[in-house]
Amino acid sequence: MKIIHKWLIGILAVLAAALLGGIFFQVKVTLDMRKEVSAMKEQKKSLELDIKKEEAFVVEQAMTEMGEQDKEQGGSEQEEEAAESAETEAAQNDTPAEGNGKKIAIDPGHQGYHIDMSELEPVGPGSQEMKAKATQGTEGRFTGIPEYELNLTISKQLAMELQKRGYEVMLTRQDNDTAISNRERALLAADFGADIYLRIHANGSENPDDSGALTMAPSAENPYIAQLHDKSYALGEAVINAYCQSCGFSNRGVMLADNMSGTNWSKVPVIILEMGFMTNQSDDTKMQNAEFQVQMVQGIANGIDQYFAAGN
Ligand SMILES: [Zn+2]
Repeated sequence: MKIIHKWLIGILAVLAAALLGGIFFQVKVTLDMRKEVSAMKEQKKSLELDIKKEEAFVVEQAMTEMGEQDKEQGGSEQEEEAAESAETEAAQNDTPAEGNGKKIAIDPGHQGYHIDMSELEPVGPGSQEMKAKATQGTEGRFTGIPEYELNLTISKQLAMELQKRGYEVMLTRQDNDTAISNRERALLAADFGADIYLRIHANGSENPDDSGALTMAPSAENPYIAQLHDKSYALGEAVINAYCQSCGFSNRGVMLADNMSGTNWSKVPVIILEMGFMTNQSDDTKMQNAEFQVQMVQGIANGIDQYFAAGN
């Protein structure tokens, strides 16, 4: 009996130990799993944080890039400083900036190809002769850039430069989607109260050797605005000379033209500047060069300064 009793106790003890061990093991596994789960939760949290940081970085970067673009559009800091110190100088000398009080309307010629401007309008006030509201313009034969784009690029830069010099400036269009006729552009310039109206264009020719710049003014016999000939011609001369001196293009002088509706509808001295030939390799390539564009813009602005300085 005693032996059997011992056996039973032994077996029970082994069973109890196995049971306890099992329970212990299970508890340990459960604890380990909990640890693992909480470790995974931690990991997930830190991943989420990383993702948020990443997003914040992208937003910050985008904002910085936008800021830089603004800076580019608004001119470099150095330029701004130069403008500020020029203003201070002007204030100290008690002489107003060159352009003070004068208003300039700028028309970036043409518009995007997707805008239909084929409807007709009179070529001048009271005229029976009709012309398309606006034409499509030429195109860079070598750069592939359409004239309407170049005209807008230079016009915007010129507007900024003239504002720096103390002028009030208006652009007849600020994008390539604006449907506005040549007559309407001239009337906008008049509504603005412009002192002068500057139409920015680039030339095209079947002869790829044709190069250089010219301005166009109404003649003294213009049926609509003969009275504006003298001042327009003076403006045309001042601008073409200063422009070619600044950028080095060959000077084709001032042409007289009375068949341009955008000129004939003007109520203030008006010129067209043909900045260069987009069908000439050298002209076309140079006119798309950012540094060269600065010289172009400086030249036009210098011509305008000289026109007003001469008492016009
Ligand atoms: Zn044109």
